Amino acid sequence: MNTDVVIIGAGATGLFVALDLSLRGAHVVVLDRQGIARGTSGRFHGLLHSGARYAVGDRKAAEECVAESALISRMAKHAVFDSGSYFVAFTGDDDAYIDSFRTALKKANINSEEATVSNLLQREPKINKDAYCAIAVPDKVIDPFRFLASVAYMAKNKGAMFHLHSEATEISKSGIVKTDDGLELTGKVVINSAGPWAGEVASLFGNELDLMPTIGLMLVYSPRLVNVVVNHLRPPSDGDIVLPFYNTNILGTTAQVVEDINKIMVNDEDLQDLIYEGSKMIPDLRKMEYARSYYSARPLFEGSNPREVSRDFEIVDNDPFVTILGGKLTTCRLIAEKVSDLVSKKLGLDATCSTKRIQLEDVLLHSGPFSGTVGEEVYNLGANFSALERDISS
Ligand SMILES: Cc1cc2nc3c(=O)[nH]c(=O)nc-3n(C[C@H](O)[C@H](O)[C@H](O)COP(=O)(O)OP(=O)(O)OC[C@H]3O[C@@H](n4cnc5c(N)ncnc54)[C@H](O)[C@@H]3O)c2cc1C
Repeated sequence: MNTDVVIIGAGATGLFVALDLSLRGAHVVVLDRQGIARGTSGRFHGLLHSGARYAVGDRKAAEECVAESALISRMAKHAVFDSGSYFVAFTGDDDAYIDSFRTALKKANINSEEATVSNLLQREPKINKDAYCAIAVPDKVIDPFRFLASVAYMAKNKGAMFHLHSEATEISKSGIVKTDDGLELTGKVVINSAGPWAGEVASLFGNELDLMPTIGLMLVYSPRLVNVVVNHLRPPSDGDIVLPFYNTNILGTTAQVVEDINKIMVNDEDLQDLIYEGSKMIPDLRKMEYARSYYSARPLFEGSNPREVSRDFEIVDNDPFVTILGGKLTTCRLIAEKVSDLVSKKLGLDATCSTKRIQLEDVLLHSGPFSGTVGEEVYNLGANFSALERDISS
């Protein structure tokens, strides 16, 4: 099969590239060895970043988040939850950092407001009583499945083709991609949006990238203890965000470098450290058993400091093979715009990006039965998600 573009990976990045290029009139085929959002995008922390977390150390990433979180909140209202979010400092935290945080929020144009700590503690009694400073920021929570089901559905309606459960196993220098289920696709351009597996996929093309997969662990607590996002107001480190996700709280995250991304053992020390750090914000996290744990990986470059490295993205162009590295779910639309600009030039397409103006449909609600309570809603959405995967790949 011949096509303009073969996209390897149906996570947030690959799906938004598929949508952007389809809207520009390109013929696109998306492959994924699993399904929609089954990699990092379905196993991330859940924050639609306002940019505040990056304001001090990574101004560019912060400014991108300001613009992109506003766009996603508008286009995917059904998948975004505005729970309220606070950066909170506790006794012993560094006043100098708090001042630099306030300054950085202003410089990055992030709307923020000093909150009255006693009011916050009254509303959210599980937050540590040692809190002495709280700043409200516009972070939100996003359901990646509801969001990305809509992106995939719209891409399909605009002409993108999907081959799920199909793994790219060979990529030739002329853009021929072979899969484990016998498919042979020739793309004028091949896009590697395999997230943390991007190094493996690049090596199929003979392109060795020095990546150092770094996993982040998340713990899920049920029932939830807090109804707002709580960020520890200190330099980014382990266990510094707790967020509400449906009827649970998710605590994250860590940064553990692993040798082989397909053979991951979660380090018990990291797990205990995550609970210890999280309990500085919500003391009951130490007493309560977590209900579930999960992890996902970042494709960091070898030698980077996992905590200091930018959460921005990189595009590596080895014509006809383009690799996308890094980024955030919050900036997937922007990453896709940049990649699609590059690919459009290669294909000679005149159309420009139009994803800033799209409105996404809540397709999961439409694809099956729906009942009122929160628990049943989540259960039904899971079944509807699998039905949607079957629909779009037929
Ligand atoms: C611990 C952690 C927490 C995070 N929290 C947040 C957060 O709160 N907010 C935020 O905005 N961002 C967050 N991020 C970042 C965000 O999750 C990622 O940037 C984003 O999900 C990456 O999407 P992706 O499409 O590039 O990769 P993925 O979602 O991993 O998709 C890659 C896909 O490629 C497929 N694939 C791999 N190899 C092959 C092959 N050979 N053939 C076919 N398919 C293949 C995989 O099956 C997978 O579906 C977090 C990241 C981590 C690691």
